[in-house]
Amino acid sequence: MSVYELIDKITKMQAEGKDLIRLDIGQPDLPVPDEIKEATKNAIDDDRTGYTHSKGIPKLRESIAKLHNVPEENVIVTVGGKFPIYSAMACNCGKTTLIRPCWGAYPLILNKTGSNFDAIDTTIESGFQPDFDAIGKTDMIAINYPNNPTGITISGDTYRELSDMSKDRDITILSDEVYTKMAFCETDSITNYDCDYICVSSFSKTFSMTGYRIGYAISSEENIKKIQEFQQLTTTSPTEFAQYAALTALEMIDEASVRISRFYEKRMKEAVSLLSDAGFEVVPSQGTFYLFPRINGDSNEFAMKLLKEGVSVLPGSPFGPYERHFRISLVTDKMEEAVSKMEKVRKEVE
Ligand code: PLP
Repeated sequence: MSVYELIDKITKMQAEGKDLIRLDIGQPDLPVPDEIKEATKNAIDDDRTGYTHSKGIPKLRESIAKLHNVPEENVIVTVGGKFPIYSAMACNCGKTTLIRPCWGAYPLILNKTGSNFDAIDTTIESGFQPDFDAIGKTDMIAINYPNNPTGITISGDTYRELSDMSKDRDITILSDEVYTKMAFCETDSITNYDCDYICVSSFSKTFSMTGYRIGYAISSEENIKKIQEFQQLTTTSPTEFAQYAALTALEMIDEASVRISRFYEKRMKEAVSLLSDAGFEVVPSQGTFYLFPRINGDSNEFAMKLLKEGVSVLPGSPFGPYERHFRISLVTDKMEEAVSKMEKVRKEVE
């Protein structure tokens, strides 16, 4: 069963009335801030309901450019963060290297676009830190920090190492930074380095705006043009009133970032303590709302049995060769109940 089929099954069970603790979804359990809701309503009242330029409304591009300290020409507003990732992967004619565990959508996109790719794997023993020296001949490296599913980040020195590698070996760095504003510690960005990069970010996670479908990419004008062509030919432009709401969101980004990071850091610490006491191996995360614990058994069997007990998690296989791991999203305040069920099922599969 693919990850999307599993999520469909879980959603169907819930629609049929099954009481579930959902730890499988990447949707923050905080509401969209009131100011953003208000801006959305005002934008609709002001008839901001049409097509926009296929690179997004100028004011929003300007604000994003300011936030990242880059020229506006290097910014495109997109339909969510997934869209520029798909476009970048589809446009890369050479090989893409993934760093696993990684978001399950990356290999699925690369398969769908018929792209050539390989991967280097990190382990729980090394705190999921990558060894970029292990990367062979490649044209693009896709990174994602803070990472889905581990929540791990990399240091500024590692970004520098990647940037040097990009220049020395003519490699594009696709840096998925959708969780950067949910980091629990200082984090860097590829945009601070002078190399060939495509940086992707989004309003989905920081502001709980998953359904607004607003993201963006920062890159060379040449790469921006390629993403723009994809957008012109598919969705035409991101939704106009959602872009106005995003403009308001950017005005409160520092405050929103502190609030959401503190909220999920507290949850993460509590969950790590509960999981460790219940016999799970787990690396504390440095951002996001995910954890990627390990058991001494098959996580597919674990996830299926746990679902019958009323708790949904994702098994490790969609994220790479991690059959003993599973991913949980800390988007519930019922972690104590969830972990007690996990402990019972872990004993059955180990
Ligand atoms: N990148 C990662 C690592 C994600 O986990 C997600 C969503 O779950 C996205 C990108 C895409 O987010 P969106 O398209 O909602 O902006």
